[in-house]
Amino acid sequence: MESSELCVVESASVTMNTKNNRGHIILTHEKDIGNYLNVENIDDCLKHEVLRNPWVPNTIYDFKSELKSGRTRAFRYQWLQENGSWLTYSALEGVKGAFCRICVLFKPSIHRGVQGGFIIKPFNKYKDFHASSKIHLSSNWHTESMSRTKDFMDIMNCKKIIVIEQVNSGLHKEI
Ligand SMILES: [Zn+2]
Repeated sequence: MESSELCVVESASVTMNTKNNRGHIILTHEKDIGNYLNVENIDDCLKHEVLRNPWVPNTIYDFKSELKSGRTRAFRYQWLQENGSWLTYSALEGVKGAFCRICVLFKPSIHRGVQGGFIIKPFNKYKDFHASSKIHLSSNWHTESMSRTKDFMDIMNCKKIIVIEQVNSGLHKEI
């Protein structure tokens, strides 16, 4: 296996879009989950990074300024802390709101029902956040995405193990 298949990820906040030969430089705005709605063929390294380490708003982010007209309840930062394994907030214009990054990055193929908030568009009925997130987490969509995520993580982790083994066996030969 070529070492170039390894993900060498460096986060950058510059606006230049660039890759070097060591790996991928992932820009801060690229880690906003809103970039990946209905996107197929996301680069594996990028997908891996967004899955593990998505962009998150800082603690003083003004969620209230993003209230939809007629709504009184804003997104709460605390929800990200409590649900960090799946819940992700997008600040991208046009798709601001809450998403399940598992379902965005591994979009479920089951088309029964209408995939709406959390998956293909932002969830922003924050008054119903707790009930709706429970329903989402127990949905067939989320279950399917979770299982695809697990397979993906196994493959990505396995790649690293293979490279480590090759490095070790290389060392043995030199001795
Ligand atoms: Zn989900």
